[in-house]
Amino acid sequence: MSQAPLLADVQQSQERLLVIYTGGTIGMQPQANGLTPAGEFSSRLAHALNQLPVRLQQSLPAYDVISYSTLIDSSAATPLTWQQLATDIAERFTDYRGFVVIHGTDTLSWTAASLAYQLQGLDRPVILTGAMAPLEAHHSDALDNLHGALRFAANSALQEVAIYFAGRLMRGTRAIKQHSEAVDAFSSPSYPLLGERVGDDFILYPSRGLAYQQRGAPRFELVDYQPVAHGEVVRITLWPGMAAWQLEAWLSHPSVKGALLQLWGAGNVPDNPALLAVIAKASGEGKLIAAISQCPQGSVHMGAYAAGHGLANAGVLSGDDMTPEAAYTKLVHLIAQPLSLEDQRRRFLTALVGER
Ligand code: ASP
Repeated sequence: MSQAPLLADVQQSQERLLVIYTGGTIGMQPQANGLTPAGEFSSRLAHALNQLPVRLQQSLPAYDVISYSTLIDSSAATPLTWQQLATDIAERFTDYRGFVVIHGTDTLSWTAASLAYQLQGLDRPVILTGAMAPLEAHHSDALDNLHGALRFAANSALQEVAIYFAGRLMRGTRAIKQHSEAVDAFSSPSYPLLGERVGDDFILYPSRGLAYQQRGAPRFELVDYQPVAHGEVVRITLWPGMAAWQLEAWLSHPSVKGALLQLWGAGNVPDNPALLAVIAKASGEGKLIAAISQCPQGSVHMGAYAAGHGLANAGVLSGDDMTPEAAYTKLVHLIAQPLSLEDQRRRFLTALVGER
């Protein structure tokens, strides 16, 4: 990663934001083989912001930019990328009033959810954004997204990880990418917006924020993390006709320490004792197993169906209405720490950062 500009005066930098550029379509430029992540982001960003009407430029906060030396398409992000980002923010945490992370949209909501757990207790904003089209493309959504992300990142009433996209501010642990082409590619299916753009104003709804809901909670401290780099957590979406041996192939693998199961509807599974036996065995071996629904909205209620009831007896934890991103990254977050299984299970069921 390139270094932040050396700011002699920390006092001064505390008035500034830090923009961290990781790659993604927003910063890509066309090459012979298609769009490729491109550098020089700081000058390109300044150039783009200069195109805003003067009245909007005047309300922009001051910022510094750092760029990762290896810019990625976000499909290449892994739990190690999430961990690196959290560390980079934590190291500069007291130097900046807020952070903007520029990220590819495809896995942006995964990174956002992971950062929310890792940076628990934030007292300032961390905003992720990206774009569906490159910054320099005609009619790109990039400038609007960058503008809004900078404005919300300067709002000290916001004290959590959030995603700003297409005029909407969403909780990081509640957002999903819901469209592969539309400009409003993200939504927050089970939690209201934290804020939104209305005309030239960027309105925050404070009572929906963690700062309001977790008043008095302990403040930020980077957790003691081990790298999760070997596929320790799997995500398995049920399909009609899934066989027990197929489930077992993943759950019984010695590297697997946790699994997210995506069940039918409100928590239904086939009434197949062999499937339940595989899950119960993995859970009995100390693997952390949680379940959410395949439906983008609504909760799982595992006791609602007899078959689902068997899951609870097999030790499967309910993920309620969590997004796949929030549930998966939470499993990673818990498995990465030196916690007992009992502690991991208890924390999974507890709302840590408004994810459930
Ligand atoms: N492929 C891109 C990425 O996620 C898509 C985007 O940024 O919109 O990095």
